[in-house]
Amino acid sequence: MQSIPETGHIMVPAAAPTYDLAVAGAGIFGLSIAHRAIRQGLKVVVLEAQHVGAGSSGGLLGALMPHMPARWNPKKEFQFQALRSLENHIRELEQETGADCCYARCGRILPLTTEDKLEHHLERAKESKLRWHPEQTGFSYVVEPAGSRSDWLEASAAPYGIVYETLAARASPRDYLAALAGFVRHRGTLLEGARVTGFDEQTGKISLADKDPVSAARLVLSGGFAAFDLIQHFTGEQIGRGEKGQALLLEGKGLEHHPAIYCDGLYVVPHDKGTVAIGSTADRDFEDAAPSPARSAELVARATAFCPGLKGRQVLTDWAGIRPRCNKRDPLIGRLPGYETLFAATGGFKISFGIAHLVADCLVSEITGTAPQLELPETFRPDHHFGANRLAADGWVKA
Ligand SMILES: Cc1cc2nc3c(=O)[nH]c(=O)nc-3n(C[C@H](O)[C@H](O)[C@H](O)COP(=O)(O)OP(=O)(O)OC[C@H]3O[C@@H](n4cnc5c(N)ncnc54)[C@H](O)[C@@H]3O)c2cc1C
Repeated sequence: MQSIPETGHIMVPAAAPTYDLAVAGAGIFGLSIAHRAIRQGLKVVVLEAQHVGAGSSGGLLGALMPHMPARWNPKKEFQFQALRSLENHIRELEQETGADCCYARCGRILPLTTEDKLEHHLERAKESKLRWHPEQTGFSYVVEPAGSRSDWLEASAAPYGIVYETLAARASPRDYLAALAGFVRHRGTLLEGARVTGFDEQTGKISLADKDPVSAARLVLSGGFAAFDLIQHFTGEQIGRGEKGQALLLEGKGLEHHPAIYCDGLYVVPHDKGTVAIGSTADRDFEDAAPSPARSAELVARATAFCPGLKGRQVLTDWAGIRPRCNKRDPLIGRLPGYETLFAATGGFKISFGIAHLVADCLVSEITGTAPQLELPETFRPDHHFGANRLAADGWVKA
């Protein structure tokens, strides 16, 4: 209900909120939601505490990798459909903005290091025929013999052969983000240096640190790992945390045509413009959010061991970010418990770039009461994330 303030003896209605939707955070989730909402005809403002890409979306890797075709579930289906539709989404965005997101369906190599793994992936190759619908999509998941693609992956790293799959893709995180930000600036409003500190659901007033408040009919919290503190502020529950990751970029002229490799827990991802990204580390506990030179040296050593083509390549830059990770592992997308007009979208952890456009479609559909392209998996919904933690904190159930 809107409040009706009194002015002298004349009752005047409260001013309507300036925006239909405010989005807190200009990472891949926040900007994708803003992009979708603007396309749906909403008047949107993005409020970013620092600058576009200040969070974990401002990185280097841009791996758009599928879940394995095994033990299939709604989450894997959602991600599969997201990766399937992402190319068209990016091509449309590029047409709208004139930007180049450096997207390519590059494919991926997985080395097979034991006989057990070979058996296991032969099963997955069979299941991919059921789950990836190769006759319609053209995507394949094939086991190739030892020595395959040894011009790129060191043969001794794959004594039992390799998997080569063609669904995996990559894009430049910074270019993709810049394209979305360009769209929002042009068709909506993007305020940088605007940190959201509070929201009054009755009036739509959004408080900002060091700035005048703005007003919106609805607010989405998409501040990456920092959103967890805001969510706790509003709901009393801490449902996630940040996890540090580090990656780097090498000079990689002539390597652009190679597929991505996932080996020894690391991705090697060739990009357009003659670069190769290597990542990532994962540190749950960390004191310093900046990249560590020792961790960068370790990344280079591990990657060149299985990918000798990287030897001697110059390190162009390194980078570290803090991924948002929900305690329940899956992302949190939807209306916060106890609220009508307050929503959250965070916790994409390692797969945000591949799913953000479909997550945005689901959330904006929930907000506007329209049908989404694809239903969210139940494990992405607030019901999955809230409640158990509160009970645990109250001592009702064991954590
Ligand atoms: C080393 C590394 C490699 C990765 N590689 C990949 C990969 O290859 N593929 C992939 O899909 N994912 C990858 N990820 C994960 C991915 O980067 C994250 O999941 C994703 O960026 C999260 O996006 P987000 O929009 O939720 O949050 P963020 O990108 O963190 O954005 C949140 C934004 O909100 C702003 N903000 C915070 N608080 C407030 C507030 N109160 N008010 C306003 N604004 C606020 C922040 O400044 C920030 O700009 C990687 C992550 C790391 C660290």
